[in-house]
Amino acid sequence: MAKQAAPVKKNQTVTLRFEDLTHEGSGVGKIDGYPLFVPYALPGEGGDVKVVKVNKNFGFGKLLNVTKPSSERVEPPCDVYYKCGGCQLQHMSYNMQLDMKQEQVKNAMRKIAHLENVPVHPIMRMEDPWRYRNKVQMPVGEKEDGELMTGFYQKRSHRIIEGMETCNIQDEVNDRMVEAVRRLADRFGIPAYDEEKDTGVIRHIVVRTGEETKDTMIVIITRTPDLPHQSELVTELIKTYPHITSIVHNINDRKTNSIWGKESKAIWGDDYIYDTIGDIKFAISAKSFYQVNPPQTKKLYNKVLEYARIGSHDTVVDAYCGIGTISLFLAQEAKNVYGVEVVPEAVDDAKKNAKLNGLSNAAFYVGEAEKVMPWWTAQGMHPDVVVVDPPRKGCDEDLLKAMIGMEPKRIVYVSCNPSTLARDLRILEDGGYAAQEVQPVDMFPQTHHVEAVCWLERKIS
Ligand code: SAH
Repeated sequence: MAKQAAPVKKNQTVTLRFEDLTHEGSGVGKIDGYPLFVPYALPGEGGDVKVVKVNKNFGFGKLLNVTKPSSERVEPPCDVYYKCGGCQLQHMSYNMQLDMKQEQVKNAMRKIAHLENVPVHPIMRMEDPWRYRNKVQMPVGEKEDGELMTGFYQKRSHRIIEGMETCNIQDEVNDRMVEAVRRLADRFGIPAYDEEKDTGVIRHIVVRTGEETKDTMIVIITRTPDLPHQSELVTELIKTYPHITSIVHNINDRKTNSIWGKESKAIWGDDYIYDTIGDIKFAISAKSFYQVNPPQTKKLYNKVLEYARIGSHDTVVDAYCGIGTISLFLAQEAKNVYGVEVVPEAVDDAKKNAKLNGLSNAAFYVGEAEKVMPWWTAQGMHPDVVVVDPPRKGCDEDLLKAMIGMEPKRIVYVSCNPSTLARDLRILEDGGYAAQEVQPVDMFPQTHHVEAVCWLERKIS
């Protein structure tokens, strides 16, 4: 078949009117029906665009100027916003960000799940949508003169942004800790890891601070098995910053893009920090998942609890349970809770957390939820309620089948990706469950990420 030529060529400049937004928050403008996706353009605006990539059915452009700025356009507070790959929506008013996310969930329900009538409640907003992140993973590099530098990668690259001293969605304590570790490492002459040559020492500095406890964990990730000047580094850090309760050394000796290596050991203090959400206290170790936005997490978990409507005789399964956060919330009301999670360190944390809170009715298992749940079903487990909180790719089909096979009366699905949520809801609907309500929660302001919780009930047949 002859390939139909796109109506634009690479490097051509065109004038567009933007009508729509993509999931990533880029503006969409059309030339003879051919869509161009243009970062930082807003619907209703006009502007000149340089075409940077031409595919068969759509292309990408770079915004050169805006001729008719939208009333929703705001000045991004970050100096490096247009370089950094971290945030995508700082040029939009917060109200517009929320509208965009709300629409995305509604559209996914309609177009992917084919659920026209399920109520999607107004997204839960943050009062102050800045400085919310409790965890940072910062790459370390070197300037031309060899001085250490820290900063996020430029968009679609592994080049560190020079001169990035702060991140406006990050807890200020974490900003300061990254800087402190970098300055000390620089003073002791510890070289940064060079990704191309696979040489050098420090790869990343990770900092996590508990919202309630203000405990801080610092993780230094190196290529080398040893951290040079370890004891001086530790001494200086704990002398100056008494809120540090844990310093961990992680070794990643592979030539890879992944941040974390297998081996972690505490070189000072505990190998976990504490934080509390509501009435429950959690121990969190370096490699365990823990939600990054504490005030919104509390709202999210309370919604899960409300939707789960647990009775005191109920058995509950929490799949993808991490360190047992949702499980322990549920265990306060249920007879028994069974959590399953693939990261062994997180399961150790979950068991520790059950003890810490005196909740002996919660048990945790290591494994892939899609393998463990069918096995549980085969053993005759019939939970009353199942909660799932999978990563962005959604639930594995085997897991959805196992869940349907367990015949719980209720399912609560927590999702960080509306498309996979909607795909899986279709399967659950076809398997005998009816979606009742969806509640989006803004867990990641200034970025395009969207979180939502859905409540389903078993249809009476
Ligand atoms: N519910 C928890 C964690 C949610 S994040 C909380 O709110 O804190 C998703 C979790 O799923 C992560 O801890 C991740 O390690 C885990 N995970 C990813 N794939 C998995 C799989 N196939 N089986 C079980 N757990 C998995």
